[in-house]
Amino acid sequence: MTQITNHMPTAELQALDAAHHMHPFTTQDELAGRGARVITRAEGVWIHDSEGNKILDAMAGLWCVNVGYGRDRMADVAARQMRELPYYNTFFMTTHVPAIALAQKLAELAPGDLNHVFFAGSGSEANDTNIRMVRTYWAELGQPERSVIISRKNAYHGSSMGSGSLGGMAPMHAQGGLPIPGIHHIDQPNWWAEGGSTSPEEFGLERARQLEKAIQQIGPDKVAAFIAEPVQGAGGVIVPPDSYWPEIRRICDEYGILLIADEVICGFGRTGNWFGSQTVGWQPDIMTIAKGLSSGYQPIGGSIVSDAVAEVIGKCEFNHGYTYSAHPVAAAVALENLTIMEEENIVEHVRDVIGPHLGAKWEALTEHPMVGEAKIVGMMGSIALTPHKDSRARFAADPGTVGYITRERCFANNLVMRHVGDRMIISPPLVMQPDEADMLIERAWKSLDEAMAQVKEQGLWVAAS
Ligand SMILES: *Cc1c(COP(=O)(O)O)cnc(C)c1O
Repeated sequence: MTQITNHMPTAELQALDAAHHMHPFTTQDELAGRGARVITRAEGVWIHDSEGNKILDAMAGLWCVNVGYGRDRMADVAARQMRELPYYNTFFMTTHVPAIALAQKLAELAPGDLNHVFFAGSGSEANDTNIRMVRTYWAELGQPERSVIISRKNAYHGSSMGSGSLGGMAPMHAQGGLPIPGIHHIDQPNWWAEGGSTSPEEFGLERARQLEKAIQQIGPDKVAAFIAEPVQGAGGVIVPPDSYWPEIRRICDEYGILLIADEVICGFGRTGNWFGSQTVGWQPDIMTIAKGLSSGYQPIGGSIVSDAVAEVIGKCEFNHGYTYSAHPVAAAVALENLTIMEEENIVEHVRDVIGPHLGAKWEALTEHPMVGEAKIVGMMGSIALTPHKDSRARFAADPGTVGYITRERCFANNLVMRHVGDRMIISPPLVMQPDEADMLIERAWKSLDEAMAQVKEQGLWVAAS
């Protein structure tokens, strides 16, 4: 058998990849036709491909490489842990030091009485844990009928049957029999796309009050929990109007339902605080964590749980767990990641230095003729593309056509920016420096110019009526 290495010709790697590797969220036939981009190595905010391109990664992989690529310390910790104890489980009354140390550290970092951690291998798994945990919580309290979880359309909470059901992605629900029973979705607070002629403040209130309406419709004695991302990520980095979160908090308090903050993207500095729920000003009962927890160096996720919920769950045998819950290598690497974040004051860097620097330039993208709103919280931002800013019109083409063209122009200019429909989104490594942020903006501007020219050339500069 030939050894497959970075030194093989790109076309050969692409052919083997298309032949044997089924990609997530991809049309495999399309991929086979054009060949995947082969990423070979990375450092800081930069990734390299097999063609010798050096690309600015404004997505931090999939929103996760918070401390940047190429950290030797993480590799050293992983190697040390693999030699000492590569694996042991935490079922059956056993534990190990990496699990203990990471759980203790997370309890220290998480706000309020979030003092208990149930580990998983990913965000999807952690949200599956959350479904079972909140339902078990109410059952243990003698209210088993209290099982409905309310979520939001276009939310992303993972790709398993449970977490994909919590999420509100229509294309995902269209495949494989999602959602599972007992999940209810309300509309997202996306004023730009759905606000019509209402003011952002009115719209924020209206969208928050959908939660109250849903609770009343379903019956307050049947609702277990509400789950939300503090800032909706994969749904297009949707920053709600200021009126939204205080009203949501009021409603959750009034009806006593559990609040789950999905912090998989927002956690670990992304929004300028350790957790996004601190940025938006609410105290969850459970937090979902993954991604930035290990900066993506190892797959690990979990649920950070309040004293009150942990106390109830602690009375029963919770028949739930994963072989890799608190995997020692992943836990050791995650702990090292948090140590780096503290030593280098990365949360402060986001809040006081790079967040404001990038933010000012990002918001100035609204001066571009194709950019409507530009939103950014810490180091997660989005812009809405439009042929007509005043009316916030969509393009007459299929949603995502112009976003895709723009993303391709970004790629060609060695910038990774993602598109969600006709929104462009960024979530760069938190260690980004001001000169790198300037390069991001420069390349974004150039790519927008080129995309706009192409859109006009193809006759797509037409507002939907
Ligand atoms: C990515 C993501 C998840 C799922 O995490 P995986 O590790 O991919 O399973 C859950 N919630 C949010 C908000 C995410 O962005």
